[in-house]
Amino acid sequence: MRLILLGPPGAGKGTQAARLVEKYRIAHLSTGDMLRAAIAAETPIGLKAKDIMASGALVPDEVVVGIIADRIEQGDCANGFILDGFPRTVPQAEALDALLKQKKLKLDAVVQLLVNEAILLQRVENRIAQMKERGEAIRADDNVDALAKRLEVYRGQTEPLVHYYGDRRMLATVDGMKSIDEVTAEIGRILAAAAAPAPAKPKKPAKPKAKPAEPRPAKKASPAAKKAKKTAKRPKSVKSAKKAGKPAPKAAKAGGKGLKKAAKKTAKKTVKTRAKGRKRLTKRR
Ligand code: AMP
Repeated sequence: MRLILLGPPGAGKGTQAARLVEKYRIAHLSTGDMLRAAIAAETPIGLKAKDIMASGALVPDEVVVGIIADRIEQGDCANGFILDGFPRTVPQAEALDALLKQKKLKLDAVVQLLVNEAILLQRVENRIAQMKERGEAIRADDNVDALAKRLEVYRGQTEPLVHYYGDRRMLATVDGMKSIDEVTAEIGRILAAAAAPAPAKPKKPAKPKAKPAEPRPAKKASPAAKKAKKTAKRPKSVKSAKKAGKPAPKAAKAGGKGLKKAAKKTAKKTVKTRAKGRKRLTKRR
């Protein structure tokens, strides 16, 4: 099972992904989590991504595409994976298509979690307040300003993916404002339908047997050519080839060139002889 969870920050992609991982025994690939791990480990990618992420903007496409290309090679992805937070732009989606094609893999579904942005902002603010109360570490981009920026980026750069996958008939939409359990159940139904074998196509009625081609009407030959054909001798080569039991030379075999030449010659002769005859007649008169 390979699927994409699509939705703005705070829509519940992470929560649903955790449940799907359990159910289908597949890997959860969150580019946000991987980038945060890179920041914590102070890798070159982490250092590059740190400030970008804190502002709520997107990390360059080639960085995340590179991360995903490496990640799906790993053993835990053999059974499938959930992409959470990737792709986030059309070029990322195109790169993913190319990557999957190259590995002869296909996506089973793209599930969009549809949410009301105003309620979403409220939800995220509540979550941040609760985390602060519990004394938990808060993400650098978990504040109202960065969240507003992330939503704006989502609308501008990620939402076009709804059309991208819609056009490819891969998109299924779920009401993300329903309870977590209801959303899980709905996603389960979508994935079950995606995994079901496609209904067999009705068989095309057998084509009626092609009629034998009707012989083409012969071209009308000029009387001179007709006579010429009659009088024309078969070229020697054909005769001798036949005698020897060898295949006839090409021109003769094709039934044309050799014979046509001979016919033309005789036709010319006939026309000349007729003209001579006419001359003689007029002289006599
Ligand atoms: P997330 O945890 O998915 O909300 O991602 C947090 C931040 O990581 C985003 O606001 C981006 O700065 C960065 N990020 C995560 N995934 C991507 C991606 N696919 N493309 C670009 N930036 C990403």
